[in-house]
Amino acid sequence: MKILVIGSGGREHALVWKLAQSPHATQLWCAPGNAGIAQEVVGQASRLSPSSKEKIRDRRDACPTKRVECVNISADDLPKLLTFAQEKKIELTVVGPDNPLALGIVDLFQKNGLRIWGPNQKAAQFESSKVFSQRFMEKHGIPTARAGTFSDSTAAKKFAASLGGRCAVKADGLALGKGVLICANEIEANKAIEEILVTKNFGAAGAKIVIQEFLEGMEISLHAICDGKTAKLFPTSQDHKRALDGDKGLNTGGMGTYSPTPFLSDAELKKVGDTILNPWLRGCAEEKINFCGVLYPGIMLLKNGGASVPASRIEARVLEFNARFGDPETQVYLTRLENDLVELLDASVGGTLEKIELKWKPDTSVCVVVASGGYPGNYAKGKIIRGLDDAAKLPGVKVFHAGTAKSGNEIVTNGGRVLGVTALGKDLKAAQAAAYAAVEKIHFDGAHFRRDIAAKALR
Ligand code: AMP
Repeated sequence: MKILVIGSGGREHALVWKLAQSPHATQLWCAPGNAGIAQEVVGQASRLSPSSKEKIRDRRDACPTKRVECVNISADDLPKLLTFAQEKKIELTVVGPDNPLALGIVDLFQKNGLRIWGPNQKAAQFESSKVFSQRFMEKHGIPTARAGTFSDSTAAKKFAASLGGRCAVKADGLALGKGVLICANEIEANKAIEEILVTKNFGAAGAKIVIQEFLEGMEISLHAICDGKTAKLFPTSQDHKRALDGDKGLNTGGMGTYSPTPFLSDAELKKVGDTILNPWLRGCAEEKINFCGVLYPGIMLLKNGGASVPASRIEARVLEFNARFGDPETQVYLTRLENDLVELLDASVGGTLEKIELKWKPDTSVCVVVASGGYPGNYAKGKIIRGLDDAAKLPGVKVFHAGTAKSGNEIVTNGGRVLGVTALGKDLKAAQAAAYAAVEKIHFDGAHFRRDIAAKALR
């Protein structure tokens, strides 16, 4: 099968790496990709096998090796992507980021008779409009925070005041992950409302806002792969959004993840999954939303929840929905996933997910993001990255590239989040130690990373 992956981050590197291992994949392209993606080879076996009894099948005999080709087309240049897919006779396109989904790439490709994995524009609204999502959750009984939606700042301020000012003020549309302002009091809430609705700091994305009550607890990520009728839940994972240790500093795209988390037992996860996914699926059917792709709800486990209380007392609230794989959640999920990813995505497109059982390695996976100096603020590009080969030689380690590029014979930094250094281990401690041992081998000018990824789970 000829496959095109759209995107250029660590998530897309993980997708390409896993797709390339499938015997179904014959040729793989990535638009625009990065330096690490360009090193992947179709038909190459995964080298990851720390503690599991996984027998690596080297499929090189079954499928001739071929390098993945990066194509210089931006992820939101829909007309060029369509022309490329038609010219190359792509049989499956896999969309990584939110923006092309919100722009309607799935509708465009389908209209032109191309098979593509990801939600269509209507279904992508779960991420592209927080107002849509909040109303959907309230209408269909999905547990979420108490909230209001507003386009008028006076009404918004009145609602924020009714919450004592402790709230999350959210721009409706996509805002590069920066559209959520957490407020501790009325002064902050009023300032946030003014910034979004009046000063229009987020442009059209801030024409409307959602204000949610502030929820305290343990935040985790859920993922479910869906085919329009069936949703299959992944194990839990946890991201680390803030730039600095101890959840300090500015919000980022995500500085590291691990999976599974110890905060929900299997029974609790099932219960939480059911309370979200059952009404969500019913709501989608009622509103004629055909969601093929990954639904990624951000969840707050309320303070009275946690591993020590019975499943019946776990209280979870959905903070938001994303309509794609998380980054860097994908890196830890795909290093644990045992299923063939081509078969899984194909079943999601074809509506046959019900027949597939998700299988996960028992190992824990930890991903530590190494970022450019200054990120998430301004940062320089073009810094030479050293030590990648040494890191990659360590057992159980896979270094996913995010913001990297090739410059002559060197690999250089080309973005804020540069690498997702990922390791499998027989338990969380082993995986964490392996990931940090690999990070220590890698050097570039200004590199920074958090030293406490997965620490909450070990406390
Ligand atoms: P969102 O993009 O809606 O997930 O918001 C970004 C981040 O803001 C989340 O990952 C949470 O850490 C935080 N957040 C969002 N909504 C709330 C809320 N209602 N209460 C507390 N924190 C929140």
